[in-house]
Parts: sequence; structure tokens; C-alpha cells
Amino acid sequence: MPTSDEPRRSPPDLRSEYVAAAAHARRTAVLASVESLLGWDEQTMLPPAGGAYRADQAAAVASLVHTARTEPAQRDRLERLATSMEGGEGDWSDEERVTVLRLLCDLRKQLRLPARLVEEIARACIDGQQAWVEARRHSDWKGFAPHLARLVRLKREQATCQSPDLDPYDALLDDHEPGARSSDVSALFDRLRPGIVALVRACRGSRCPPRDDLLRQHFPRAAQESFVRMVAEKIGFDFARGRIDTSEHPFCSTTGPHDCRLTTRWDESYLPTALFGVLHEAGHGLYEQGLRSDAFGLPGGEAASLGVHESQSRLWENLVGRSLPFWEWCLPLARRMFPEALSDASPEEVQRSLLVVRPSLIRVEADEVTYNLHIMLRFDLERALIRGELAVADLPVAWDERFEQDFGIRPATAAEGVLQDIHWSAGLIGYFPTYTLGNVYSAQMMAAVETDLPDLPAAITAGRFGPLLEWLRERVHKHGRLIDPGPLVSGATGRPVSERWLVESLWARYGPAHGLETLPPS
Ligand code: ZN
Repeated sequence: MPTSDEPRRSPPDLRSEYVAAAAHARRTAVLASVESLLGWDEQTMLPPAGGAYRADQAAAVASLVHTARTEPAQRDRLERLATSMEGGEGDWSDEERVTVLRLLCDLRKQLRLPARLVEEIARACIDGQQAWVEARRHSDWKGFAPHLARLVRLKREQATCQSPDLDPYDALLDDHEPGARSSDVSALFDRLRPGIVALVRACRGSRCPPRDDLLRQHFPRAAQESFVRMVAEKIGFDFARGRIDTSEHPFCSTTGPHDCRLTTRWDESYLPTALFGVLHEAGHGLYEQGLRSDAFGLPGGEAASLGVHESQSRLWENLVGRSLPFWEWCLPLARRMFPEALSDASPEEVQRSLLVVRPSLIRVEADEVTYNLHIMLRFDLERALIRGELAVADLPVAWDERFEQDFGIRPATAAEGVLQDIHWSAGLIGYFPTYTLGNVYSAQMMAAVETDLPDLPAAITAGRFGPLLEWLRERVHKHGRLIDPGPLVSGATGRPVSERWLVESLWARYGPAHGLETLPPS
């Protein structure tokens, strides 16, 4: 995909239309970034009593963003440009064509939603989240069920309005993973599942499973703060264009082309909480910092999808951070920061202690292997809800039965079952599958990296992460969302998207750590 900015020949009025359309998209992105700054501040800095006024501020900016996004003049410009491009008028680069089509497609989706529905969804999401916080606290499914029923009804209506030609669940999925279709995702998950189920079973049957006592010692917070900052900087996160703060739930938020903010939380008795939180969020941050700043606010400077975003965070968190070369480099530094806890540990011991497989009720506490089973369960259930194949009232029973079948344990309360995630209460349906797609993409990318950069393990042992980051920048980051996620990943790796590398990667790392001699099912 050519990304050059050299001037092209097009009829002068069309050229100036294009310039105006791009300027409008950038202005909208500037407003939207104010919204994201307010959100960051709310999660990290806001005093408790400031919440109500912050809600007013956020609503005011959200309404400005919505007005800017749906401005009729912008729609007219983009329609004219698209028609003239289609008719062969003017001399446009591929990037300019895709930019117009993407912007127009986004705008049409927005315009197809009646204002009444947008407002009702916004209100239902706010009510839903508040009800969810209370319901989870008291494990009160009945208190949340009417809110979820309302959200499911509204999201179904949204799907039908915005993409009338798609299956309703696909329309929602398309918002998070453009071009993905649930039948393909479902087929991919069906192929992934047996390899994971077999690995979980084999790991659980291991007579010498890894233990993580080494990581459950005292790690003073001040030392952790310097340590994780050093690690983030070393893998390439640019602190002149970003920062790390503390929040209850870690996240990465971008406030501008040169302002990317990560957060983490701290646990003085378990090192991985902050370290892997930061590796994960810094992976998102490296992607954001690798997007083209000259195209900020335009498809060329925006992330391809949630799945691709997650592939970047998972790659650094799991495929780099849990690898032996990483600990060969990192352990001497960690020993200096945490002499009491780690002075006798070897890189092999630390690495092995990071590969514990332990089925648990809560998704956000899950290990790398069982995590995908949590996602598949949510994907199947939310799809059935949207398609009307499962009633909201029957959801808790469906959840518990499926959970028992997949994990061999049954949630004792709704809070540790169906009520554990915030997503559905915030209207995020069609979002969960992007987590496992991210895992699939990350393993496929790493397999391609290993072929392209045979010296990578030695480079990482020497603390050189540049070659890996450069590969990701070149193959993934610089394309923004000019290419759909599926073709982007196949183009980057030279192979069609497949679950094969994730299954192989999990077996290759977790098998030996559990003393397994069996091979993955073929
Ligand atoms: Zn993430």
C-alpha cells in the first residue's frame, strides 16, 4: 500500500474537497481525543466528589464529537469524492481512495442510526454499568437482568439499522473487527478448541507442574515502579511521547499522536501483576506510537482493529515476556532491584514459574492457556443472545453449565460467573472474540518473525528488542487501518490466518514446563 504524500493530479475542486474532508476528520479526532483525555483523568486522577461534574463534561464533549462526526457537509464531500473516484475521475493514490471509502463507510453507519436510538443506547449503557457495579457487588443477577435485556434489544436494533445487509451479530462484530464474520470466527474457534482443551487436561494431569512461589514474595512497590519503567523503555516505549500511571484496571489510552498513556496496578506480594500489566499495555502503546503521526485522525494513522491491537499487547506480554531469552536478559537487572526475592533464582526457574496453568473462574485472572476458553464461552453466549436463540433470563444457567463443561468447576455465585465482566453492561457485544483473535494473530506473527529473524533469541538475551519492533512497525503498524485485519495479518506473515501457530506455540512452551511428552492433537 503506497503511503507517499506526493501531490497528485486531480481536478482542482476535487483535490480541495479531499483536503477539506481530511481536515474535517482530523478536527473530529482532536475533539475525540479530548474525550479520551477526560476518560484517562477519570480513571487515574479524579477526586471522588468530582465524578458527577465529570459526567457532564464527558457528555458535553461526546455530543460535540457526535455532531462533528455526522456533519452533513462532510457526508456530501465524501459522497462526491467517492462517486468521482468510482467514475475514474482524478488521479488518486490507493491510500486516498481507501481513506475516502473508510471515512464514508464510518459516516454512513453513524447516519443510519436514528438520534433517538443513539441517545437511548448511551443512557442504557450508563444505567447498565451502574446497575452492574451494584449487581456484581451483591451477586444480584435479578438486579442486572432487565438492564441486559434492554441492552440486547437496543444493540440488535442498532445492528439492523447500521448494517441492514449483515447478520446482526456480524454487524456488531464488524464495529470491533472490520471485515470479520462470526461464521469464520466460530470455525476458527472450533479448530482451536480441541488443542487447548487437550493441553489444559495434560497440564492438569502433570506430575511435576511448575510452581510460582518464586514470584509470590515481597517486591517493594518503589522498586517495582523503577523496574517496570526500565523494561517498558527497553522494549521501545518512548517516554517523551508517553507515561505510566496507576489505575484499578490497567489500560492504554491515546490522547494525541505524541501522547500515549499506560496504566498498571501494583501488588507487592506478586511481581507479575504490575510487570505483565505493563508489558501488555506497553505492547498496545508501542502500536499506538508506531502509527503514522502525519496521518493522525485518518485511517492511515489509526489501529486496524481491536484484534490487531490485542495481538501487539499479547505478543510482548506472553511471547516475549514469558520467554527464556527475555529472562536471561532481564533477571540480572531484576536481581539488583529485588535482591532478597530473586538472588538465588535462575532464568530457567523464573521462566518456568510464569507458565502455570490453573483453571479459574475469573477471566482477567486466567492463565494464557485457559484464557481462550473464557472467550469462546462468551462468544457463543452473546451470539445466541443477539440471535434470539438464548433468552436473557436463561443466561446464568447456560453460563454455569458451559463453564462446568469447559473448566470442570462451577461458579458458586453470579458475581464469579455471569456478572464478572463489565463489557455487556457497557453495550460491548461483539468485542470478546477480538481477545482470542489477538492471541491467534500474535502467535502467527511470532512464527513469521522467528523465520525472518533467526537471531532474535540472541538479540533479546542481549537486551536488543529493536529488530522485533522494527518488524512489527514495518509489517503491521505503518499500515494503520488501510487494510482489513485478516488481510493485514496474512500480508504480514505470508500465510492465511490460522489457529495453528497459537496451538503449536502453547504446546511448545507449556508442554515442557509441565514435563509433558505428548504432542498436540493434529
Ligand atoms: Zn489489551
